[in-house]
Amino acid sequence: MDKASNEHNAFSFNEAACEQCGECFHRCPELHLPIDIAKQEIKSLRKGQGGKFVLQHCTTCFSCNHYCPNHCHPYQLILKNWNRIYKNRGAPPIYRFICPTMENSIFQMLEKLMSDEERELVDGWMNQAPGETILLIGNFTHLYPFILGNSRLLNYFTPVDLLDHWEVGATLYQGGYLDVVRSIGKKCKHDLDQWKVKTIVPFLDAVEHMLTTVQPEEMGTCFEQEVVNFNQWLLKKIDDNEVLLVKKLDLTVTLHDNCFSKAGGAPYWDTARKLIQTTGCRIFEMAHIRENSLCCGFGAGASWNHNVRIPFDILATSRIKLNEAEKTGAEALVTYCGGCLYLLWAARELFQSELKIFHHIELVRMAMGEDIDTTQKLHVKRAWDVITVITFHLMIGFFQKPFKIKKLSFEEEKWKDKRHVFFRLLRKVFDTKIGRYAYRKIFLFLLPRLKTKKTFD
Ligand code: SF4
Ligand code: SF4
Repeated sequence: MDKASNEHNAFSFNEAACEQCGECFHRCPELHLPIDIAKQEIKSLRKGQGGKFVLQHCTTCFSCNHYCPNHCHPYQLILKNWNRIYKNRGAPPIYRFICPTMENSIFQMLEKLMSDEERELVDGWMNQAPGETILLIGNFTHLYPFILGNSRLLNYFTPVDLLDHWEVGATLYQGGYLDVVRSIGKKCKHDLDQWKVKTIVPFLDAVEHMLTTVQPEEMGTCFEQEVVNFNQWLLKKIDDNEVLLVKKLDLTVTLHDNCFSKAGGAPYWDTARKLIQTTGCRIFEMAHIRENSLCCGFGAGASWNHNVRIPFDILATSRIKLNEAEKTGAEALVTYCGGCLYLLWAARELFQSELKIFHHIELVRMAMGEDIDTTQKLHVKRAWDVITVITFHLMIGFFQKPFKIKKLSFEEEKWKDKRHVFFRLLRKVFDTKIGRYAYRKIFLFLLPRLKTKKTFD
């Protein structure tokens, strides 16, 4: 990490307090490293030597920060090491998938597959004149405009969805792209100040954490605006009978605590549970929750060795999560993060799970009596849209090299308008039963062969 970041980094790894006990990686819910290996790993990471397991298998879940008895922030040590690797090697080709300003990002590709109504919603959010109080809708909701679009809840704010705000750097932060995250923070601050925004309500807890903690404490960018947590705002509105829940949902659900929720801890975990309970749903908890929660899969892409393995590592991790959710016996899996939502849905379709999967806001809206697609057909369609984009990137990735993330803004033109004939054709194949059947067979055949092996097993 460079000098500038160290100056501001109150959350950096506390080397002096670390006793090299290995507890952080020994208790890690994903790795469970034997204690002697865990001790070796922390030594290697401290020396910037890479180690053999953590940087290769970590799912960037934040849990180890909870396990360290001395509050040393081992997670930040991992990010620092990944940042060093990124500076030497670049980002994996498939990472273009998630970079909104790049050609063929998931945002560009999905736009081609969206209905006119969805496109209209997203365009509206992208072109709103920002008011004093904005709802920062965020990139991931862009993938599912129907979960929030047209809700009465949007009347309380100006909903704004700028793709090139990059979730204020949340996704890249988890991969250790720290210098890029710093630049994104400055860009966001510039825009928000110029718009004279006074209050920001991020739809995603991760974005709230970026605005209130990571950007000011670690990156040195402070935001003048008041930041209000969306879920806490919503719970208060319900408690005060301003937002009326007119329907009691008769549903058993299990709740996925996402990686960034661990950065905020109990206030994030408890608020999400309270919100779900107000809808009438009963929660059946999974074996791993809160600080021990398992990754949805997304984070497994951060520790990459070979580009081609990334989707297999991600989906193998999602499968573990789905299995754990199924074991609870709940009818539905609920997530309060839009990033987890798209991966869990892709995994559900590939592994043919029977679980319904909801974003928690869909449950609240149902209880409000709003019109939600309870058949989940829109989700199934979007899951296959996402699978198409992942497959497309996997294929073109064979011809691409690792890259540096340089273009942070859209400036004038958003993306070049291409026809994407092959991509559209592939999507049509996935509309057929035989196409889906064949794809699942191939994917399941390749999965054990291509996912990264953990050699200490
Ligand atoms: S970071 Fe904390 S838990 Fe990990 S080795 Fe150091 S003292 Fe132990
Ligand atoms: S961030 Fe999560 S997966 Fe990575 S080492 Fe820490 S606990 Fe393990």
